[in-house]
Amino acid sequence: MQASFERTSWFPIMLRLEGARVLVAGGGNVAANKVQLLVSTGARVEILSPTLSPELERLVADGKAHVTRQDATADNLSARLPGCRMVYLATSNRALNAELSALCQSLNIPVCAVDDPEVSSFITPAMTTRGAVQIAVSTGGAAPVLARRLRAKIEEIMPAGLHRLAAFMQQSRVALRTRVPDSAIRRRVWERFLDGSGGPLAMAGNTQAAQNELDRILDEGNARTGEVWLVGAGPGNPDLLTLAALRLMQDADSVLYDNLVGPDILNYVRRDAERVFVGKQTNNHTLPQTGINAELIRRAKAGERVLRLKGGDPFIFGRGGEEIEALVEAGVPFRIIPGISAANGCAAYAGIPLTHRDCAQACLFITGHARADGTLNLAWETIALRSQTIVIYMGLTLVSQLCARLIEHGLPADWPAAIVEGGTLPRQRVLTGTLATLPQQVADNHITSPALVIVGEVVRHRVISPPA
Ligand code: SAH
Repeated sequence: MQASFERTSWFPIMLRLEGARVLVAGGGNVAANKVQLLVSTGARVEILSPTLSPELERLVADGKAHVTRQDATADNLSARLPGCRMVYLATSNRALNAELSALCQSLNIPVCAVDDPEVSSFITPAMTTRGAVQIAVSTGGAAPVLARRLRAKIEEIMPAGLHRLAAFMQQSRVALRTRVPDSAIRRRVWERFLDGSGGPLAMAGNTQAAQNELDRILDEGNARTGEVWLVGAGPGNPDLLTLAALRLMQDADSVLYDNLVGPDILNYVRRDAERVFVGKQTNNHTLPQTGINAELIRRAKAGERVLRLKGGDPFIFGRGGEEIEALVEAGVPFRIIPGISAANGCAAYAGIPLTHRDCAQACLFITGHARADGTLNLAWETIALRSQTIVIYMGLTLVSQLCARLIEHGLPADWPAAIVEGGTLPRQRVLTGTLATLPQQVADNHITSPALVIVGEVVRHRVISPPA
């Protein structure tokens, strides 16, 4: 999985070409290749070339394409450009292709110089077609061979009867639109159909059984029930999402997310799901907890499948418990998917074994979040023990106070302590020291949120992999 996506200036669309005039300059095999593709769309294909390959001669003789037997000069092309939907340049002369391309672009007519993306305003992807289903793969002209490889891989995993499934869905579309006017609910009906036995039945050509299955789903009548999925997104690195999280991220109608859920994670949410930021920052509550609860309930009752996406695990300092209680009270169905908590993610990526058997019998997760009066109210006698590891969430702001309290309650000043900033992310930093040194290290290194404090002898057992 890729953490972040690079920008590309190419935008994929599907163009309706039936009846449209398309010009192809050139009459060799490269031109023939494109003409074949174009003819299958029902476009009116006009070739500009003094000579034609045997294949093109046949297409012209069959009336599938038309030819003007002239040189592909700028003048001859210009004469034919008005009213043209798009142009392919397939002369074997690169300089000429470039000149003709500039001419088309000056008139805003989409133009592709075959194998020369630099001078093209559109490019042709590697394509695979199964009935109405078309998959196009592009590398933006950077690596056409790679695009063709990917296409071959996709073809391998495409089920054989996909065209039948697409045809079935197309035939049922109009009737379904009348029966279920709400597009979000319609989408859910189709998802149930595809997730259940409907897909395989339609692909096998068993149209009647597929229709019965569709009717059954519609009769169930509860397609409108919304629900809430409380999902842990892990500590930030998309590699640490669970498969369940990923699936629900792909199915959700809307997503309510916190500030711990970064753009790299949101990239994996279904493109047209509505994104609602409900992040909480100390002293800057975007939406108070009761507001979030109310919003979850409102959306679910309106039939949405709402993804409540939280950093780490929803039940570890995530207020997941409160949200679920509110849902239960309101009678809203829910699902809870655990996530890798910051303690697990940070410890693993920093190489700190949280319960090394030589020194830790227990591992305690505590919050370093201050009370309203700015102090920490914790059971220090049970926390400041040498036999256990202490993991402190939200402990960055009060790190000095935390370290001081631990020393006051019996831990030595030189007791090992670490802080992990941006754990599991590319920007992760790890500082190790002692209870006495950590606050100054945090200040000197300008450590920022999110950061996790780990206290205990396990910090001395930190392991770092040698270069591979
Ligand atoms: N539910 C979350 C915790 C929410 S509290 C979980 O299970 O991880 C927020 C705190 O988690 C932050 O203040 C920080 O202490 C910690 N945290 C979350 N993600 C982190 C990360 N990537 N690196 C370091 N600390 C992190």
